Amino acid sequence: MKLHEHQAKEIFSKYGIPVPEGKVAFSLKEAKQVAEELGEFPLVVKAQIHCGGRGKAGGVKIVKNMEELQQSVEVLLGKVLKTFQCPDGKPVNRVLIEKATNIDREYYLAITLDRSKSKPVIMASAAGGMEIEEIVKEDPDAIIIETIDPELGLMPYQTRELAFKLNLPVKDFVNIALKLYQIYRDLDASLVEINPLVITKEGNLIALDAKMDIDDNALFRHKDIQEMEDESQIPTLEAEAKKYGLNYIKLNGNIGCMVNGAGLAMATMDIIKLAGGEPANFLDVGGGANVEQIANAFRILMADPDVKAVFINIFGGILRVDRLAQGLIEASKIVELKVPVVVRLEGTNVEEGKKMLQESGLNFITAEDMWDGAKKAVELANKQS
Ligand code: GDP
Ligand code: MN
Repeated sequence: MKLHEHQAKEIFSKYGIPVPEGKVAFSLKEAKQVAEELGEFPLVVKAQIHCGGRGKAGGVKIVKNMEELQQSVEVLLGKVLKTFQCPDGKPVNRVLIEKATNIDREYYLAITLDRSKSKPVIMASAAGGMEIEEIVKEDPDAIIIETIDPELGLMPYQTRELAFKLNLPVKDFVNIALKLYQIYRDLDASLVEINPLVITKEGNLIALDAKMDIDDNALFRHKDIQEMEDESQIPTLEAEAKKYGLNYIKLNGNIGCMVNGAGLAMATMDIIKLAGGEPANFLDVGGGANVEQIANAFRILMADPDVKAVFINIFGGILRVDRLAQGLIEASKIVELKVPVVVRLEGTNVEEGKKMLQESGLNFITAEDMWDGAKKAVELANKQS
């Protein structure tokens, strides 16, 4: 789950990481109130969306008086802001109003999980600001990475080393880095990022931007965080899937995949690629899906316009195959079958399930096994595209 910048900054503040003084506003009226509370200009108006690259896209505006503030807020609020990271855009339903910072230099600082090492890493760079992704692509050495031993936690000596290498005020940097790690651990984050971390002209170190991603599987431990979720930022189909307890992931290809279980999902992606195709998404109905969930899963899968063929790959254990078949039949009553659907079924009550599908008169293409199914789906998707 992603947090907004203003939410992440509130958390930073609680932990003692310095952030610019400011407050979120949901309307022009609120924005003006915040401006009055802050009591001085220049201020910065920042569109709050779950997407980076706002600076370049006009989502961050420095304003010198009330008129400029009004103008910027009116331009941003209610708008869909497109950035290079989100070409489809995200709705702006709130803005953060902050006191402007006199930037001297911009740095990058983040903690995330390195899955290949199974350990967190802290990353820092003197090339902070808006271009970090580009810079790192061209010059991987521009970023310094320290591996964190999860047993020991982030050690102060590691943060001092980073401070020396980047020529940053040691005491302030160490304080920020250690607190960032504490937040990462306490909140079960998968990413905490400050880009840019700035040195002000006055010589202070301050988090000018804040990004935070919380591990969804740990959200049950953080009800207060869960309540902060801004659903308007989640892609429609993903939000829809979430509502029914389904796991939907959008990908770049043209084959929609319905599977049960994460392992089978991975295997299905692999085998589709092996057959020369590309998955458009995968929808994991999980172990114990009921008929209603299956029906909704099918509807959501069909709603993705990139889908040119569907591959249903089910190994029924706890989820019985006959129940799945019934779900598909129910779904087909409300969802038009616009693209070919290949079905590979195996497991508990498979014969019963297959028979139900045959007798339903629905035009499903049955596959002998996974490989056969993948080949058929790829072939059919290519014909349709
Ligand atoms: P992002 O583009 O979505 O990552 O948004 P950021 O919060 O990182 O802001 C983008 C850029 O706007 C920063 O790198 C700064 O250069 C600039 N910026 C943001 N706040 C201030 C400010 O208070 N003063 C000045 N001078 N520039 C700012
Ligand atoms: Mn940023």
